[in-house]
Amino acid sequence: MSTRSFDSLKLAPAQLQNLADLGYREMTDIQAAALPAAMAGEDLIAQAKTGSGKTATFALPLLSKLNPRDFGTQALVLCPTRELAAQVASEMRRLARYQQNIKVVVLCGGQSIGPQIGSLEHGAHIVVGTPGRIKDHLRKETLSLGRVSTLVLDEADRMLEMGFIDDISAIIDHTPQTRQTLLFSATYPDDINALSQRFQKSPREISVTAFV
Ligand code: ADP
Ligand code: MG
Repeated sequence: MSTRSFDSLKLAPAQLQNLADLGYREMTDIQAAALPAAMAGEDLIAQAKTGSGKTATFALPLLSKLNPRDFGTQALVLCPTRELAAQVASEMRRLARYQQNIKVVVLCGGQSIGPQIGSLEHGAHIVVGTPGRIKDHLRKETLSLGRVSTLVLDEADRMLEMGFIDDISAIIDHTPQTRQTLLFSATYPDDINALSQRFQKSPREISVTAFV
């Protein structure tokens, strides 16, 4: 078995079949470098460029520990923009197809909040959204993060550039300390390091930029 094979990870047989159906034949660089640690529950600070397959790098670990019978939000993915949140949600729904009834809800600004509140009424296993709108839902108590076991900061450098640091901090304060935190960034400036030190536990540092 090649180390690039998804078979080397502890994934459900139905997920391995789903990946094959999706045309995921072997792991990308970031997936091969990060998935073993992420699947083992470690925190991760990963640097990789756009198009390198970061979504599966966080989606496979969080999906594999999801309890489908618990409709409390178990995973939260923060993204800098609406477009990125929509892309992540669509890729996650494909990767979640092997399990029945996994609900992914997108919460972003620029859309009316009423339908979003409606979509949260019966719970959502996974929430993907932008920091401002997630904070609005927390303030209204229409979203609870008390059962989050995986927190993902996707394109964290862009979120910091856009001034989301206070919103991100306030959101993280609503999640359990026991969570796994996966941080992705295309660049690695000092403020990303500071964010990591504040919110991660001995994260595994992975950079694949040298190989691409
Ligand atoms: P990033 O977030 O790093 O920009 P994505 O996770 O959006 O990248 O992945 C980019 C594209 O590559 C998507 O269309 C995704 O379906 C595809 N992809 C990701 N990993 C693999 C893989 N191991 N094999 C084949 N296609 C993949
Ligand atoms: Mg991405």
